[in-house]
Amino acid sequence: KRKYFLVDRINLIQRSKIRELFEKARKMENVISLGIGEPDFDTPQVIKDAAKRALDEGYTHYTPNAGIPELREAIAEYYREFYQVDVDPNNVIVTAGAYEATYLAFESLLEPGDDVIIPDPAFVCYVEDAKISEAGILRIPLREENDFMINPDELVETITKRTRMIVMNYPNNPTGAILDKKTAKAIGQIAEDYNIYVLSDEPYEHFLYDDAKHYPMIKYAPDNTILANSFSKTFAMTGWRLGFTIAPEQVINGMTKLHAYIIGNVTSFVQMAGVTALRDKRSWEAVENMKKTYAERRNLALRHLSEIPHLKVFKPKGAFYIWAKIDPELNMTSEDFANWLLEEARVVVIPGTAFGKQGEGWIRISYATKEELLTEAFERIKRAMEK
Ligand code: PLP
Repeated sequence: KRKYFLVDRINLIQRSKIRELFEKARKMENVISLGIGEPDFDTPQVIKDAAKRALDEGYTHYTPNAGIPELREAIAEYYREFYQVDVDPNNVIVTAGAYEATYLAFESLLEPGDDVIIPDPAFVCYVEDAKISEAGILRIPLREENDFMINPDELVETITKRTRMIVMNYPNNPTGAILDKKTAKAIGQIAEDYNIYVLSDEPYEHFLYDDAKHYPMIKYAPDNTILANSFSKTFAMTGWRLGFTIAPEQVINGMTKLHAYIIGNVTSFVQMAGVTALRDKRSWEAVENMKKTYAERRNLALRHLSEIPHLKVFKPKGAFYIWAKIDPELNMTSEDFANWLLEEARVVVIPGTAFGKQGEGWIRISYATKEELLTEAFERIKRAMEK
């Protein structure tokens, strides 16, 4: 039985530590932020043109609850072509970003008495989603020695009769880790054997480096996976609020009701622009260019960081983040360190503890920033650290 009304459950949500630091930084001058997890690119022109055209063509009305059929078809087609996964458009809902997709999964699947397994560290919204659904939270550590992948043996040990779902997110925010095929398969098998759902949040699927590949969980546990994905990062469309979820038949109907009556549908002309994003060659060329730029920035960041004392980097293979370990000899918590760096170097990084207890001793550095600013930021960090 639920203990709280929805308003009380919402009060359980924690203010993000990331925002607190941003607010402090906003009051200071000459600060460079390596904190933000948002592409600095503009949305590709072909997608913007499609939205303007859709407006002129009368896409100003309500849409079907699950989304415009053409977009749901384009999403299914994309999975078929990119990953050879057979997706039925009926199992797709267009959502307000991946955020809504994860919320729908938690709220429609979990009840008080159910447990959800959330990796530690993890992106900030899953724990808050779990609180709203009043599910029990089990954190499973991600370890550097295992390249920050979920260890299937540890997963099996963590599962109990109450476990209903596990959250996965590769390429990973905050570590930049990716998932290998063997682990994807193993976790898919565990989900089937133990009858649990996998909420797989994959908005960074295209940002991969050093020949890394993406293995979407929907391929390895098709009947158990709820996929959350988004146009936000892939096409630099964060403010458009366009994402989607793909879920098995027994789940999608409940999600659609919640989406329609509690949240509401994504703007119709934005959905039409989504069709162009997925189907037009030019938007994929723009993605390729963004990927190339991220790859160059990653190399630039790694080069600089290799010369900075007291920070040890986990070499990322995906997303646009670097997870760096603070030398324990400095005897500083992640928050102390991030605050010190803001004051001493005027650079914002995110304390690892924003993502869970295992993040203590780490910071997250985002390289979704222009090269000149990145260079300047790393020079400042270096000077401060040498001091
Ligand atoms: N999931 C992860 C792992 C993210 O990093 C983010 C944004 O930073 C989101 C979901 C939310 O993305 P969206 O803009 O699609 O809601």
